[in-house]
Amino acid sequence: MLKVLFSAKPEAWAEYEVPLQRAFAAEGISADLACKHDPSEVDYIVFAPNGPVTDFTPFVKTKAVMSLWAGVETVVGNQTLTQPLARMVDHGLTQGMVEWVVGHTLRHHLGMDAHILGQDGIWRPDYPPLAADRPVTILGLGALGEACGHALSGLGFPVTGWSRNPKDISGIRCLHGNAGLREALTDAQVVILLLPATPATENTLDAARLALPAKGAFVINPGRGPLIDDAALLAALDSGQIGHATLDVFRIEPLPVDQPFWAHPKVTVTPHIASTTRPDTAAKIIAQNIKRGEDGLPFLHLVDRSAGY
Ligand code: NDP
Repeated sequence: MLKVLFSAKPEAWAEYEVPLQRAFAAEGISADLACKHDPSEVDYIVFAPNGPVTDFTPFVKTKAVMSLWAGVETVVGNQTLTQPLARMVDHGLTQGMVEWVVGHTLRHHLGMDAHILGQDGIWRPDYPPLAADRPVTILGLGALGEACGHALSGLGFPVTGWSRNPKDISGIRCLHGNAGLREALTDAQVVILLLPATPATENTLDAARLALPAKGAFVINPGRGPLIDDAALLAALDSGQIGHATLDVFRIEPLPVDQPFWAHPKVTVTPHIASTTRPDTAAKIIAQNIKRGEDGLPFLHLVDRSAGY
């Protein structure tokens, strides 16, 4: 029987215990799943970075660490972690992100705020353009960026995506590398950030790059806080170069009360709720990945430790 350690916040256990037991049974895995095990006997760790395990040294027999989170920046540099680390790619997480991104894109595209916030008795028959006339750029074409790209392209938006490696994705103009970033941002009217936080992605949107989109463009960041130079974004909002920023993630979370984003009239703050791992779908992914390991197959969704994601 496999020993599987669940290392996450204590309240997560109530959400995950039954879905994981069910998923292991469905895969024919016999597992002793618990929040406490002798570390030297653990075969797999189901892991969240905010759980109790921070030192992996005693887990001498552990075959892999299965992250419940898609973003692994807080564990990827842990020197004691020598076991393979798989990140979360979960249908429920992806679908939640697609819905959040599409919702916030449509809010800006349709100019909904003018009617919701500006209801002042004046009849202003301004028509929004069609999606086909609103170029959208997505930085990051991974599990989440690609799914958001397909959804927005399905609505008619011309979608450009940018990634580290070259890609060929139907319905999305794919660019990569430094020159690709410049081209991807130039004249974009909506810029969506779905990159991981790594040393290479810090300040991807700095002052020079914030000058490239069309004047009044919308920035939507459900990726990670360090992707944007905060001071440069505030300056671009104040000058009108950027029309509005919807930010779900920040360098410090929770966002401190005195941080200027809270009170800025052109910023929408959401509290890191763009999406989350859903226990039912995520448990199946973890069980399938453990089954692969036990069958001698390579694990899926392994983190490239040198690239940081
Ligand atoms: P993936 O690892 O699947 O995709 C990451 C994408 O970023 C890939 O396309 C990758 O390129 C690209 N990328 C990475 N580094 C660079 C670089 N230096 N230059 C250009 N492109 C780069 O991640 P996911 O799509 O699953 O998730 C993306 C991020 O979303 C997570 O890392 C996390 O930070 C965030 N997230 C936020 C949530 C929220 O609620 N706000 C919820 C879940 C995730 P390539 O394809 O070439 O490798």
